Amino acid sequence: MQNVSPEYIQFVNAWHQIMVIAAIVSLVVSVIIFIIYKVKLGAIKSYKGKYDFILRNQIKNYQYFYFAIAAAIFFYGNTVGDITVTKSLVYIFVRLFISLCVAVLFGYVIYLILKFYYPAKMEKQLNRLRYTPRISKAGNEMKLLSEEEEDVHLDEGMQAEENVFSVDYDVWVDEETGEVLIEKYSGYLQALECGSCGFRTLTLQSEEIVKPATEEEEGELIKHYKCTYCKAERHTKYPIARVLKSLNEYKLPEDYVLKGQRKVKSIMIEIISTKGDKKEYFFQNTKQASEFLEQFDFDKEPEIPA
Ligand SMILES: [Zn+2]
Repeated sequence: MQNVSPEYIQFVNAWHQIMVIAAIVSLVVSVIIFIIYKVKLGAIKSYKGKYDFILRNQIKNYQYFYFAIAAAIFFYGNTVGDITVTKSLVYIFVRLFISLCVAVLFGYVIYLILKFYYPAKMEKQLNRLRYTPRISKAGNEMKLLSEEEEDVHLDEGMQAEENVFSVDYDVWVDEETGEVLIEKYSGYLQALECGSCGFRTLTLQSEEIVKPATEEEEGELIKHYKCTYCKAERHTKYPIARVLKSLNEYKLPEDYVLKGQRKVKSIMIEIISTKGDKKEYFFQNTKQASEFLEQFDFDKEPEIPA
């Protein structure tokens, strides 16, 4: 056993107390970060407001929360093994270094989880908020219109924006009072699942109009995506809807028939819900298929026309 001065033992004790206090303060800070976040989120009344708030702040706030916990781990680590530490000054540095390593590792793992794994989970939470039926001023449950139906309620500027600038408008309608609620969602903020690495880290980088739409013809748009994790790129073509001459033009044709109907063996319709569930249906001709589409309701089991 080495000779240790009483001053050194005093120092180790004082150090211990400071570290305990610092660990407690860090934990309190983490709890405060968490509570402030939840209170702010809870104070927002509308689903759309919550959606935007979560999209902008949730991951950042969870990061702060876990970083404060990492700090608490570091300070707590510096209180462990006082008996060994009192034997030599070297051990206090060894302990400092190990605590730092453990805390940094913890913080880094959390950072990776929040950056690459967590966004897919958050997306489900966001989808729930986006697609929960809105309640109108009259207290009725509103109906979310389909892409075809909603265009009647969007002005030309909004329609153009929806077609081109990766903006999605959701239109909710109270069918009894006619109240309309329009919500705007930006495609640039949302991340998609990457086909190469499987993480939800594929984000829209830019869009270009290859061919503008006219009153006669559909246009063409290419969206350029890049994965922030594996750097894979994806370029997807989208049609730009024809410029409408008038609003009543928009209804789907009543008996929609494919050209060369006789050569068609069967028609498959795949319907994908906002939750990602898929349903497939097969039909012998386009007439059956369009009858089916008219009656289709995702929550009810449909009758297949004979
Ligand atoms: Zn990827």
